[in-house]
Amino acid sequence: MIPIAEPSLKGNELKYITDAITSGWVSSNGKYVSMFEESFAKFCEVEYSISCSSGTAALHLALVALGIKEGDEVIIPDLTYISTANAVLYVGAKPILVDVDKSTWNIDVNKIEEKITKKTKAIIPVHLYGLPCNMKRIMEIAEKYDLKVIEDCAESLGSKVVSVHTGTLGDIGCFSFFGNKVITTGEGGMCITKNKELDKKMRSLRNQGMSSEKRYWHSSIGFNYRMTNLQGALGVAQLESLNLFLKKKIENAKLYTKLLKNIKGLKIQSEEGNVYWMYCILSDKKDEIIKALNKESIETRPLFIPIHIMPHHNSNQRFPISQDLSNRGLSLPSSVNLKKEEIKRICKIIKGVLE
Ligand SMILES: *Cc1c(COP(=O)(O)O)cnc(C)c1O
Repeated sequence: MIPIAEPSLKGNELKYITDAITSGWVSSNGKYVSMFEESFAKFCEVEYSISCSSGTAALHLALVALGIKEGDEVIIPDLTYISTANAVLYVGAKPILVDVDKSTWNIDVNKIEEKITKKTKAIIPVHLYGLPCNMKRIMEIAEKYDLKVIEDCAESLGSKVVSVHTGTLGDIGCFSFFGNKVITTGEGGMCITKNKELDKKMRSLRNQGMSSEKRYWHSSIGFNYRMTNLQGALGVAQLESLNLFLKKKIENAKLYTKLLKNIKGLKIQSEEGNVYWMYCILSDKKDEIIKALNKESIETRPLFIPIHIMPHHNSNQRFPISQDLSNRGLSLPSSVNLKKEEIKRICKIIKGVLE
């Protein structure tokens, strides 16, 4: 069986986890949490890195730290994982959906301004499947209307806009380390920022709002969003392999593209700056492709379902691009350890369906 995504845990993961267990520090105190934060900040070339318990928690922390609250509106793409939208609801604000672009599949920057009102306080661009958004345009809009920008980088660790990492262009960047993400800590998340005040706020918020100067003095309503030392140990080991992971993911994607690009009736997401968290394709014969691959024990995954359809976000507005991508899109196996022969086999099956 070829899975859609499986973690690669062949470096120092076991060694560091064993060390964490032997040391007795299994909760959120212990050296690996801060080591992970420091290495992560260094990798992203950013000042501050705040670990937390999940990517969803990271988005929630970012919104609270930026003061987004009830009555505010936050602009997000219609095509994303549910967390982006739910985090906005957690703070009592309203997610305002914007359709996506048909070639990048990311938020359509030409449709953002028409959704801005007096209540708009922030934009959350999502670098979907590892492809960076048009951050230049998004930052121009944010500046013009005085909006905060939280980058949802849950799928884009390692991808860059020109020469800077996604997550460092807006006010805060949020990452996820769920089992199928670019690197994993089992469950886990990270916020990055250049802003010292925001760093301090998020550190306090993830730890029940406790003051950094006075123990058990809780200056605001915080959360228990702390990362454990065990997760940190995994994270440190995973970061050591990150450059190799990225290299392999890009190599795998290039082979997919080479083998798939001339097949009629098949489209791929645009590629500029993509780190290919998941390699995705579009086809009218999506169901037949899924079936044919499934028969050969090859796992696939449909694209996300548009947020506007979800019962708790229900909107009568139309988002034709997002809807179309979701109808026709699927992800192909994208693990780091995928073999060239496996990619060739997958592409041959797809070709067989379409030709
Ligand atoms: C995975 C993901 C998240 C949430 O991360 P968790 O760690 O699962 O909470 C948020 N946004 C996007 C786009 C994601 O893919």
